[in-house]
Amino acid sequence: MKTLNCIGLVLLILTACTKTESPVAFKDLNGNGTMEIYEDSNASLDERLDDLMPRLSLEDKVNLVVGTGMAMPGFMESEVAPKVPGQAGATYPLDSLGIPSIILADGPAGLRIQPTRDSTDTNTYYCTAFPIATVLASSWDINLAEKVGKAMGEEVKEYGVDVLLAPAINIHRNPLAGRNFEYYSEDPLLSGLMAAAVVTGIESNGVGTSIKHFAANNSETSRMSLNTIVSERALREIYLRGFEIAIKSSEPWTVMSAYNSINGITASENKDLLTTVLRDEWGYKGFVMTDWFAGLNPIAQMQAGNDVIMPGTPQHKEAILNAVKNGVLEESVLDTNARRVLSIVFQSPSFEGYEYSDKPDLKGNAAVARQAASEGIILLKNEGALPLASESKKIAAFGNGSYEFIAGGTGSGDVNEAYTVSLVEGLANANLPVATDLKEAYETYMAAEKAKQPEKKFFFELLPPIAERPVDAAEAQAQAKATDIAFITIGRNSGEFQDRKTEGDFYLTAAEKKMITTVADAYHAEGKKVVLILNIGNVIETASWRDKVDAIVLAWQGGQEAGNALTDVLVGKVTPSGKLATTFTMTYDDVPSSKTFPGEAIPDADEVKMGGFSRGKPMKISYEDGIYVGYRYYNTFDKTVAYPFGYGLSYTTFSYDGISLSSDKFERELTAKVKITNTGNTVGKEVVQLYVSAPGETLDKPELELKGFAKTGLLEAGASEELSITFNAKSIASFDTDRSSWVVEPGTYTVKIGASSNDIKGEATFTVDAEIVVEKVNKVLAPTETLNELTATK
Ligand code: BGC
Repeated sequence: MKTLNCIGLVLLILTACTKTESPVAFKDLNGNGTMEIYEDSNASLDERLDDLMPRLSLEDKVNLVVGTGMAMPGFMESEVAPKVPGQAGATYPLDSLGIPSIILADGPAGLRIQPTRDSTDTNTYYCTAFPIATVLASSWDINLAEKVGKAMGEEVKEYGVDVLLAPAINIHRNPLAGRNFEYYSEDPLLSGLMAAAVVTGIESNGVGTSIKHFAANNSETSRMSLNTIVSERALREIYLRGFEIAIKSSEPWTVMSAYNSINGITASENKDLLTTVLRDEWGYKGFVMTDWFAGLNPIAQMQAGNDVIMPGTPQHKEAILNAVKNGVLEESVLDTNARRVLSIVFQSPSFEGYEYSDKPDLKGNAAVARQAASEGIILLKNEGALPLASESKKIAAFGNGSYEFIAGGTGSGDVNEAYTVSLVEGLANANLPVATDLKEAYETYMAAEKAKQPEKKFFFELLPPIAERPVDAAEAQAQAKATDIAFITIGRNSGEFQDRKTEGDFYLTAAEKKMITTVADAYHAEGKKVVLILNIGNVIETASWRDKVDAIVLAWQGGQEAGNALTDVLVGKVTPSGKLATTFTMTYDDVPSSKTFPGEAIPDADEVKMGGFSRGKPMKISYEDGIYVGYRYYNTFDKTVAYPFGYGLSYTTFSYDGISLSSDKFERELTAKVKITNTGNTVGKEVVQLYVSAPGETLDKPELELKGFAKTGLLEAGASEELSITFNAKSIASFDTDRSSWVVEPGTYTVKIGASSNDIKGEATFTVDAEIVVEKVNKVLAPTETLNELTATK
């Protein structure tokens, strides 16, 4: 073992003092006055780990692979006092070796920690609630996503946290999935590129991320025990693909395995998933942690390559220790897991002894949140109502939601922000106060209704929303006479632990529908406009009521600055440029997964084997929609949708010219070019999408698939910009299950450049002369039961 004695240390310091270019690299972590290689930051990571690993006892290794527990009053205590109140977990410190804990906290719409501390501490620890992931995806702006990540990461670092438990990247498979707000899109390419940008941004601060929930975790019902039955092809092309893109390009420090099983094997115990695919095929080097309390078998988790059990209990430690002692678990498995944990600990601010300020740039980050929220707003409809005319100074705000905006969803993804700007506050900040009599009526009503709400039964419980305040014709008519324009806000919230419902959630309530009709009739009778604002986390039904209003603005859940960002768009300070990352269908039944969501109960006999705890509850969900998720389904099966994938209006218009391809023959990659011109009267940005239609002769193929996208800068009226979008063989390949290979079939392909999946502006073709086998992978994760999967009959 290479060591330095004290004389060596003195010499080293002297040398460092005289030669400023070689700083002191040793830190006496274990305090023994002897300098070890693992304490030398000039040594390579491998050298440091090689030096450190033999110093660990079996108990040390077990401690490293089981978290310190979690402070949950009345339920569990943390083994080590939490460093940051509100943290979700931590790795175990090895004090004698000077190895600190690293601190993990949620994510993904910003950092989630406790905002206030004990009564002796007068400081506050609020974090910025950034717009939800779906908003970022709706911006289609990779640079913006990275900027948001950078701002989030600054808060992570300055509040003393090492790893943000984000981004979350599961696919929007079904609009009722409670955590869709944490996720990006129904499309894996858009999800993967967004998540990669967020990881890059966060990690540029020298803190880590945990990309989650790996994998096929697309609903909340029976979330800890649901068995996802999915084909190899759908897994590879839809549910793993976003992770693959993000993980390969951004190398997040950690990955969080999911609660659910995939084809019968729990994700955190699934070696095919966590070792064969993640590490052997994708080359992942960081560590994998479980989702909180996931899985039943800690030994299987260790063997699968799930390096850390979170939040971790003494029982986990005992089981792992005994398994090694009894020869059930090889110590070399623990060595591998512990080494991976240490490799991340070594990069962490806690290891560096970073002196965090507890004073992040909340003001600067709020500005980033506001910009991001406005860029992700989508104008769904606009018949002469927006931007607000300068003479439309008198505004009436209807709908409970106008007065209380929902910044983001509930559960672990809920940020503890200092404030949320509502629509009426945003308008007031822009010197556009709303009608005060109506405002007072809403505020009085909501205060009274809130007082009647039941206590939460558990911490994360989402209480039922306050019933919509009734608006009668007389009130609407009086407002229509007194004001120039009406805004109506419809709000929806959802989150961890429960999926949404169709009635009164996906579909509007009777009271909401009545309010829209009453207000619209009154304003239209006066020749005045009605603008409907959607403050929602995921898709709702719009087709049955959209004709009644003049404009629909999809504001999503825009974080704490939502009202300001929305006002920026309403007044035309920001021209809307967001486009849908997930399709709005006509009805719930149009969603292909509606037939099997949220799953089915398993047969009674199996149920008895499992101890009977889940009798009658959904325990298994079959992904019969296969690869036909979202627009891949609607466009292939000619389903009319309310608003297609990629759709969004602007206050200006754009022309698409000169669509060309770098070659009409595909070799390794191709670049498409298109000139976008702002043909309207105001500034704006355009999101351009590149879809590919494959021959589909040998493999079942969707009508079209997104293979790239780009967004213009802010174009003045009349200005143009040429955009280039490149795609490679992997991106146009399909997964051939029989050969476990990604294959590009020969034939003629059509590149479709569009403003949405249903609005293709121009096409170009290219040929692939001979089949390209891009990559052969392992035959893993196959379903063991028959799956009645959807295929397109072309
Ligand atoms: C959630 C994770 C979260 C973890 C820690 C779990 O319940 O599924 O997304 O990171 O808790 O709070």
